Amino acid sequence: MSAGPAEADWAAALAAVRGIPADARILLVCHVNPDGDALGSMLGFGLGLRRLGLRRVRATFPGPPEVPETLRGLPGEELLVPATDADPDPNLVVCFDAASESRLGELVDRLVTADIALVLDHHASNTRFGAVNLVDPRAAATSVIVDELLTRLGVPLDAEIAECLYVALSTDTGSFRFEATTPAVHRLAARLIATGIRPGEISRRIYDTRPFGAVRLFGEVLGRARLEPAAAAGRGMVWTYATLDDLVRHGQRPCVLEALIDSVRCTAEADVSCVAKQTSRDEWAVSLRSKGAVDVSRVAVALGGGGHRFAAGFTGRGAVEQMVDGVRAELDAALLDSEPGRP
Ligand code: AMP
Ligand code: MN
Ligand code: MN
Repeated sequence: MSAGPAEADWAAALAAVRGIPADARILLVCHVNPDGDALGSMLGFGLGLRRLGLRRVRATFPGPPEVPETLRGLPGEELLVPATDADPDPNLVVCFDAASESRLGELVDRLVTADIALVLDHHASNTRFGAVNLVDPRAAATSVIVDELLTRLGVPLDAEIAECLYVALSTDTGSFRFEATTPAVHRLAARLIATGIRPGEISRRIYDTRPFGAVRLFGEVLGRARLEPAAAAGRGMVWTYATLDDLVRHGQRPCVLEALIDSVRCTAEADVSCVAKQTSRDEWAVSLRSKGAVDVSRVAVALGGGGHRFAAGFTGRGAVEQMVDGVRAELDAALLDSEPGRP
């Protein structure tokens, strides 16, 4: 896996932030359908910039300006503006947790209209689309890079910034369960918790709270899950889907489905899990996970998406069965490529 940012990259990032006047217009942007890492990293950094005396900091993300229920109430939320109100030509744009320009949706033009574009990310597939790129594929979350940049900028860690970075770190490590949970991750978590934030309260809010309608919806959607032991060259795949109609019947918003994959990927008999969430008549947001046997980012990239080795996704079109056919085929292709000796 490639190394993190070079000293020259850090120096360029520091210069970009330190050289900016207090009244400069700064726009922070994270990826579409923001998750805990995208929002937490962005808002934590935004609060840090405010502590440096930068007054005109705004944060946004493409698409509808709706923050998922579980991520509401984060410190720095007051920095958020809808994409439609985002500064058209800011002095500085900073992008968070986005592997490529396409993840910035309609805000992609800010990469050219801004005086300078800074990219903070941890995807191995990051295309280095900024003028300055702080990309570290070894980092468990984008918030690890935010923490380092804030430290280098001399911003003291406080409880508000820490809460944002903790939410980001916790969500991207699956609550400190994934392989990326290194000693360094726990050392960062320890520093964040030492500011006085309440990890129990935060975890209950982001993982253990959902409306009763969502509990029933999950029941129905999990009830139709299918196990295919022969898929992925015998490693097994489990998959299910949720339609817009399912959401309507249970009175739920799409963001409740973000947690669905976690209830599917626990299946002992399958290495790969797949959840298709309908987003419009024939479009699906597809999530893929692997326990380690398959690089699902290759599958996602082949199908027009992206992600990490063991957590990836893509936008699928057409009937759900057809789409899963595509996943099956790409799983086999990914396994054949990685193990040419296997039959
Ligand atoms: P999700 O399954 O939505 O939690 O996404 C898992 C990971 O896959 C994310 O961290 C993203 O890096 C990536 N990802 C998901 N959907 C897409 C997409 N449509 N295009 C590119 N990357 C994606
Ligand atoms: Mn993300
Ligand atoms: Mn991330």
